[in-house]
Amino acid sequence: MTRLPVRSARVLFATGDEQSHPTVQCPRRGRATPFERCCGCPHMKKIDVAEDGAHGSVDCDVEAATAALPRGRVDVAEAAVRVRLGDILGTDTTCVTPDVALREARRRLTNGRQRALPVVDDSRRLVGMLSKTDLLRTTDQRRHRTKVVADAMTPLVHGLPEDAPVAYAISLMAFEGLHEVPVVDASGKVLGLVTSTDALRWVAGALGYVVPTNPAP
Ligand code: SF4
Repeated sequence: MTRLPVRSARVLFATGDEQSHPTVQCPRRGRATPFERCCGCPHMKKIDVAEDGAHGSVDCDVEAATAALPRGRVDVAEAAVRVRLGDILGTDTTCVTPDVALREARRRLTNGRQRALPVVDDSRRLVGMLSKTDLLRTTDQRRHRTKVVADAMTPLVHGLPEDAPVAYAISLMAFEGLHEVPVVDASGKVLGLVTSTDALRWVAGALGYVVPTNPAP
């Protein structure tokens, strides 16, 4: 039996509407699968989700080939190549479209746990990232003409595929100075973010530390 967390990529549109895209990392398909599919699946044993349908867990009778958090001390280098980014995705990621007002994106970044927001088109395909650093640069240099996210974001960011090993994200963070890496499915749609904190927690788990289920931000 495998307990799978429901992860959600939530898209904020310029109208103020929000759309959630909850997925689980399906061990049978080996990739992210819309949460709704579990509801009618013969392998589903139990579903425990919040009213919004975007958070919770699914008990699935298919054993996962890789554990998101290794139990006990393991060979970190071997596990970092074997475990995929889809297995360690953060559970809740807010994305914005390029026409969202910059002040609203700033509010989300200031009050939320994310240090950067993936910027997506109407189909949830990645078109850029808006980080706190982008906001600071905007405040300094382009105060008078930045009104929407597109004016301040870093465009043309490439996401890592969900089946890329954890080692890829750790290398990017270590050598490219990234703090968060967007993870996308086969059609380029954003599934979520892996942050440097997620990666460090994963390494700590692989080194044998007991990582709390709901760690502090
Ligand atoms: S319940 Fe079915 S669809 Fe859901 S994760 Fe398990 S095998 Fe995949």
